[in-house]
Amino acid sequence: MAEVRDVAIVGAGLLGLAAARALTARGRDVILLEQATVGHAGAGSKGSCRIFRLGYPDPAYVTAARRAGELWRELEEESGRQLRWPTPHLTFGTGLRDVQHALQAAGAPCEPLRAAEVAERFPDIRVDGPALLETESAVLAADVALDALARLGGELCTGTRVLSIADDDTHVTLHTSAGPVTARTAIVTAGPWSRGLLAPLGVLAPTTPTLEQIGYLRPTGTPTRPDSGRTPIFICHEDPAPYGLPVPGSPLYKIGIHDSGDATDIDAQDRSPDRDLVDRLSRVAERLLPGYDPEPAVTERCVYDNTPDEDFIVDRIGNVVIGCGTSGHGFKFGPLLGEWLADLATGATNGPEPPLRERFAARRFRPAG
Ligand SMILES: Cc1cc2nc3c(=O)[nH]c(=O)nc-3n(C[C@H](O)[C@H](O)[C@H](O)COP(=O)(O)OP(=O)(O)OC[C@H]3O[C@@H](n4cnc5c(N)ncnc54)[C@H](O)[C@@H]3O)c2cc1C
Repeated sequence: MAEVRDVAIVGAGLLGLAAARALTARGRDVILLEQATVGHAGAGSKGSCRIFRLGYPDPAYVTAARRAGELWRELEEESGRQLRWPTPHLTFGTGLRDVQHALQAAGAPCEPLRAAEVAERFPDIRVDGPALLETESAVLAADVALDALARLGGELCTGTRVLSIADDDTHVTLHTSAGPVTARTAIVTAGPWSRGLLAPLGVLAPTTPTLEQIGYLRPTGTPTRPDSGRTPIFICHEDPAPYGLPVPGSPLYKIGIHDSGDATDIDAQDRSPDRDLVDRLSRVAERLLPGYDPEPAVTERCVYDNTPDEDFIVDRIGNVVIGCGTSGHGFKFGPLLGEWLADLATGATNGPEPPLRERFAARRFRPAG
């Protein structure tokens, strides 16, 4: 009989890599199958940076983000790499009060600021109303984090596509472009590709990939040092929600508008710039970022893996563990998602703690009745 691995993971994006690292740390034999390369152009985890913030309008997410923050610090220590660039974070817009209440309910520090105080402390950003300052926030060096995780977890097989998965209640067999792989447990962390892999197993993961538009702005004057603390991260909690963050080690400032891209065919992504979306980014820059040229110096497209409710999917069905549907806000939770997936794979716990366990369950998508 072919070698039986403890755990086979499908997809070496952030979630797959984080799960592999968590399982390897627990002494499990792990194989990680990636159809392309780590952080490739079509993956949701690609690029230089992501926002780490606690500011959610929901105390359960705030608590999870705080725990994830501790785990990011541990990963930094273990890998010896700088993954977090501590950076103040400003929340503003119509959703500010909900975020403030959730932060307070979860016991997370935050400081309300008037617009004039924002102007004085953060001249790179212009707001026309109150804001909320977070200090436990950071810019995550996303590409460095993927590389650090890849060095800490299991056997990584790039260029190996999983074609189908069969669970016979004892073992899981993955049919791949390089031949079959058998494992006691499989973890599907294939981002927007998960839906198609899971459907033949009878698991409904109704996610929709969208192609988002990012812009990188150049400062018009002398660039503020990215680590000066004067250029904050921001999220305007409105619908749609613009956001921005300084790029670690660069004068550029990254901006986007959360969930503004169109649905895409995941295997035929047209990653050329969307002129309408780039124009919307320029209008955000004109309104909020006085120190930057509003025409992006660089543009980038990147896929979101959206669930209908923006909650993630973290669950186990039979011998298959599922981690997907991160809906454009999963990176900050990376090491925590890795621990939850490892818990589910080893049977240590049922993964996320309530109330997120129920909210992240795949069964929430089962048709009623
Ligand atoms: C523009 C943008 C901005 C974002 N900003 C933030 C932010 O500021 N803060 C934050 O917290 N989050 C943010 N996110 C979200 C975050 O990046 C994602 O939630 C996270 O990276 C998703 O990781 P993943 O591992 O689920 O998916 P992916 O990175 O897409 O990984 C899935 C992997 O599976 C592989 N795969 C798929 N099918 C197969 C198969 N059959 N066989 C083998 N391999 C397969 C793919 O090739 C891919 O590498 C952002 C996302 C985008 C796109």
